Amino acid sequence: MTLPTPVHLRQVRDGNLQSLLLALLDGPASRAELAQRTGLTKATVASLVEPLLRHHILTEDPLVNTGRGRPSRPLRFSEAAPVAIGAEVNVRHLAVTVQRLDGATVAETRIDIDNRHRDADDLVARLAELIESVSAASVRESLGVGLAVPGIVHDGTVVHAPNVPGLIDIRIGDRLAAALRQPTVAVDNEANLAALAHVWPRRLAGDDFVYVSGDVGIGAGIVLGGDLFRGRSGFAGELGHVIIERTGRPCTCGGHGCVEQYAGLHAILTAAGRPTLEALRLALAQGQTQDLSAVDAAGTALGTALVSLINVCDVATVVLGGSYATFFDDLAPAVRAALDVGVLAARRPVGLAVSPLGDNAVVRGAAALVTRRCCLAPESLLTAMASGR
Ligand SMILES: [Zn+2]
Repeated sequence: MTLPTPVHLRQVRDGNLQSLLLALLDGPASRAELAQRTGLTKATVASLVEPLLRHHILTEDPLVNTGRGRPSRPLRFSEAAPVAIGAEVNVRHLAVTVQRLDGATVAETRIDIDNRHRDADDLVARLAELIESVSAASVRESLGVGLAVPGIVHDGTVVHAPNVPGLIDIRIGDRLAAALRQPTVAVDNEANLAALAHVWPRRLAGDDFVYVSGDVGIGAGIVLGGDLFRGRSGFAGELGHVIIERTGRPCTCGGHGCVEQYAGLHAILTAAGRPTLEALRLALAQGQTQDLSAVDAAGTALGTALVSLINVCDVATVVLGGSYATFFDDLAPAVRAALDVGVLAARRPVGLAVSPLGDNAVVRGAAALVTRRCCLAPESLLTAMASGR
């Protein structure tokens, strides 16, 4: 008879397994190097590695002779390892990505469709079809599905989605899970997940930053101490409704003078007199004065709102994504100027950077919901593999 492992020993093993997986996210390493990176003994590393190899989560390279000491066999995440699926509902597209545990992309797809008037059943059916077609092509086991939506999510229910109202009051993750015959689908707001993609599996913007995307609205994901800050009910990061002019332009939220009405993509296109983002980008590339001044005015407005945010939470960096990433060079000088004037911690200037993930940040963050859970709670990873799921 095998006695069950006592709870505290299981917790220690889980903690060690987590350290090992995190160490491997920094790159392939031999057992000896992993012992060094984690502070675990070589014997402990060897015992942890064995089930990961057996379940094809890790793979072992051929012997490498470095010329020093004994030849070693680097371990890395396996090409055949199970994968996480990220999905995204955007106002104007649906996207799916298939990611390995180390964040490597196995497959990615996007279809441009207008989702503003689509209902939840239609969205779920289209997402399920897209996910099944992409994941069937990748021929690997699935670790789970994460979903990004253009709205606020509280306890699994979409509570606010001004641009895709068909999602409101819907437990969209549960509906998609049922359609895919998965136990669960984790769901969160698009800006939060875009921010998460800059934290997991690699820190792309440090430990304390705000990710800001300009699309139909302005969304922000706040990362403090390496963790996403969602607030009490998921509304943290509603930067678009920071008031920059108390008796200013009326806003969709019922208030006046929200920054979205000055620096949102719709406001910029209206000021520039351009019908689409592509037309604006073309005009900016040609140096058209009206377009440059529309973007400059938006930069000043955005910078003004960011000053309030940074003076409250003192983050080190602002990362601009979404449509802002596509005209960053024209937008950044005015944002920079506003930050330099308004941020009180002026001795340590706030960094201003364009998102290295571009258009893919949101959908990659949706996959990161799954890969992060698997690395931080690795026992669930092994259980899933053992049950053949
Ligand atoms: Zn507003």
